Order: sequence, then C-alpha cells, then structure tokens
Amino acid sequence: MNYLSTRGHPDRKRFCEILLEGLAPDGGLYLPDTYPQVDTATLAKWRALPYAELAFEILSLYIDDIAPADLKAICAKTYTAEVFGTEEIVPLRELEDGVYLEALSNGPTLAFKDMAMQLLGNLFEYELTRRGAELNILGATSGDTGSAAEYAMRGKKGVRVFMTSPDGRMSPFQQAQMFSLQDENIHNIAITGVFDDCQDIVKAVSNDLGFKRKYRIGTVNSINWARLLAQVVYYFAGYFQATASDDKPVSFAVPSGNFGNVCAGHVARMMGLPIQTLVVATNENDVLDEFFRTGIYRVRGAVDTHETSSPSMDISKASNFERFVFDLVGRDAARLRQLFVEDLGLNGCFDLSADPLFKQAAERFGFKSGRSTHADRLATIRDTEKRFATLIDPHTADGLKAAREQLAPGVPMVVLETALPIKFAATLVEALGEEPPRPKKFDGIEALPKRVVKLPADAEAVKAYIAENCD
Ligand SMILES: *Cc1c(COP(=O)(O)O)cnc(C)c1O
Repeated sequence: MNYLSTRGHPDRKRFCEILLEGLAPDGGLYLPDTYPQVDTATLAKWRALPYAELAFEILSLYIDDIAPADLKAICAKTYTAEVFGTEEIVPLRELEDGVYLEALSNGPTLAFKDMAMQLLGNLFEYELTRRGAELNILGATSGDTGSAAEYAMRGKKGVRVFMTSPDGRMSPFQQAQMFSLQDENIHNIAITGVFDDCQDIVKAVSNDLGFKRKYRIGTVNSINWARLLAQVVYYFAGYFQATASDDKPVSFAVPSGNFGNVCAGHVARMMGLPIQTLVVATNENDVLDEFFRTGIYRVRGAVDTHETSSPSMDISKASNFERFVFDLVGRDAARLRQLFVEDLGLNGCFDLSADPLFKQAAERFGFKSGRSTHADRLATIRDTEKRFATLIDPHTADGLKAAREQLAPGVPMVVLETALPIKFAATLVEALGEEPPRPKKFDGIEALPKRVVKLPADAEAVKAYIAENCD
C-alpha cells in the first residue's frame, strides 16, 4: 500500500514512513492511493471476530511494512478489556427504537481519542525501537487530546511528551488527569495564556527546522493517518453490532470538530461498509454544518470561534476536511490545491455551491449535517436522562440531536459516544442539578501530587525547557 499527498506531491510513501510524520512536504495530507474493497463474504467472516482481531484484519489492508505477526501482537496488546473496560471494547446499546449509542469512551482518559492514541503509542514504540531512534512529541491541548496522548505514551521507550495547555483553563478533572501522571517521559507545561498561544508556540517551535531536527520534534495531532485508520475499525464493529446480516445499511452520527472521526467513517464507507448516511454534528462552531448545507466552506478566525459547552468541537477550521474534499473532487490534486491553497489562502473561503460536485457530498458520499446550541445540549442531556435513564456528555448530546433529525425508517442510526459525562461535569450539573458518577479509578485524583511546570507564552522558554529535559 502506498500513500500519496492530497496536494499532488510526486513521492509515494509506505505506512511506517508517514507514521511519525505530520503533513506531507507540500502541505497536503496523506491518503492511501486506493481504498481496499471489502465484500459481503469478508464482512460475514469478520462479523464474529473479537475487536483486536478485527483491528488487525483492517489495519493489515493498509500496513504492509510491519510483519503480520508483529502487527497482530500490537493490536492484541492495545485493545484489551483491562484498558477499555469490556470484552466488546466498543459496546453498543439501544437507546430507543432504531437509535443506538456506541461507547467509545471507556479507555484510560474517558474520551474516544484513546481508541486511536493507545494504538499510536504502541506503533510508535515499535517503530522507534526498530529504527533505534527517539521522538519528542510536542503538543498543545485544551483537554482531550493531551491527556489521551500522555496516557498512550507514558512509560514508552524512545518517546517523550511535552504537552502545553493554557494555565487554569481546563476543567479540574482534566487538569488532574494530566498533571497527576508521574512518569518521567511525560512533561506538562502550563502556559500563561490561552489555547491559541499554546498552538502558536507549537507552530513556532516546529518552524525552527534546526531545533526540530536536533531535538527530533514530532506531533500526534489529528491529521496523523495512523490515528484516522485506527478509528475506521469501530465503524465496522458498530455496524456488526447494529445488524444481524451484512446487506443492511446503517447510519452514523458523529460529534465533529477537526473532521477526523467522521473522516474515518468516510474511509469505512469507501471500503464498502454499507453506511447509508454519515451525519456530521457540530456545535455553535458550525463551519462543517455550513458547508454541508450550502457548499460554502468558510474558516473562522480566533475571535469568531466560540467557547462552548462541547469544547472539544470548538474549532475554526477542520484540519482533516481536505481528505474528504480530495475524494469529492475526484482526487484531482490541481483542483484541490486551487480550493485549499488559493481560495482558502487568499479569501479564507471556497464556494462549491454552484458546482455539480456539491450535490455529490450527500448523494454519492452520504454526508448530512446538523448543529446544536448550548440550550439544545442541555435539553438533550435532560431528555436522555429522563426517558432512558442514561447520562450522556455534551458532545454526544450534539451527536444525538443531529442524529434524530436524519432518521430513516428501517435504517439503524448509531450515535458515537465521544466522551463520558464526568469529563464535563459542570454542564451535567447545569442540565441535571447533580454531578455525574465517576469511575472508581478516578476517585480523588484532584488531590494527587501534580507534575507540571509553568512557563510564559514564549516559544523560546519552551525550547529551553525541552533542551534541558532531553539528554
Ligand atoms: C476530539 C473530540 C471530538 C471531535 O472529533 P474530531 O475527530 O476532531 O472531529 C468530539 N468529541 C470529543 C469528546 C472529542 O474529544
């Protein structure tokens, strides 16, 4: 399997070459040069597999530079009942007739990002050991990504994590999750500033190519292909649980920010998984909903990005969206460059509303969308508690609201549960008047000793800290 760049760079790469990389050299995103096709007979064979074996079958279609026995062992070590809480790993439950919740949030940090990040940790360790190399992961987080990365990389050979976060801006639970880690290879850096300052620092450090090379700086952000690939697996697992045979269509509703999660659904659908509709659910930051309604993709500036009660979806541009648009324009890299480099670069916007292609987003690729507000979120959380005695987090509530607007008779609708309510306790309290229950292993974490340094919003200070802590 070869990987290409959405912006047309002539090089082709193998999986392990792009595993530790971010963007392609021309600024594009990596995609496989074709989507392997899965027929009904294969689906029937996979239906009965345990999750780790299903993961191996799917990953091995895309990874041919890790020995199959090694890849199988990596999957078996990653997707265990100890780490994810159940034998099913992603259990499905029916909420009401035809509407299901797929639990993706029972990993170490209680958000779906663990599904991919836990695999990434094991793949990184494997590949770095094979190369005899080291990697220093530098990241910026406002919550879920940073903790998922730290829990995936803690104690891993060859990897250090330097994670910046805005000082005092994460929920106390999220701070405690990250800062209570005592592993030597995990470094929490609280920046005096906001999330954008953290992101600017990461960019500034990564743009210093000399520093980047000398200290082997890498990232684990959502454009990483391996993360996206790991997420493809739970669309298959959700499909098998929602159906009894392999010719019935299923739809998915996906709380979306950077378009990574739902892009994995797109890949599953391109492989031939019978997905009818992919519902892209957004909050007040509705860049994606606007595109799927109007054909206009208009990125926002920092001042137009709202701080909402589903904060992990507070994005101004969707970093994985380029992958889908590449398929939408028939993999025409010149056209893609015109949209993402010229139109977006010059005007912050591209407009496909009058182009026949736009209709295909829904008709050929199955995309629909929806949007919710803070009031919708509270109402959905209350309604779900009242009618089904089930607590959902604010992001999942956005997904459920959008899902209900797109139900089709006879087609199961699977809503992806992207976090557990305890991570966003304040909004649950606002909706229901009480704290959500907390899994036992997190009892009292706020009181544990914290391992964190405070630094000013200054890339030089962060560089100095990294240099000091790499020997
Ligand atoms: C990251 C995240 C999302 C958004 O996922 P994308 O892949 O960025 O679209 C939604 N919900 C939660 C809880 C998240 O942590």
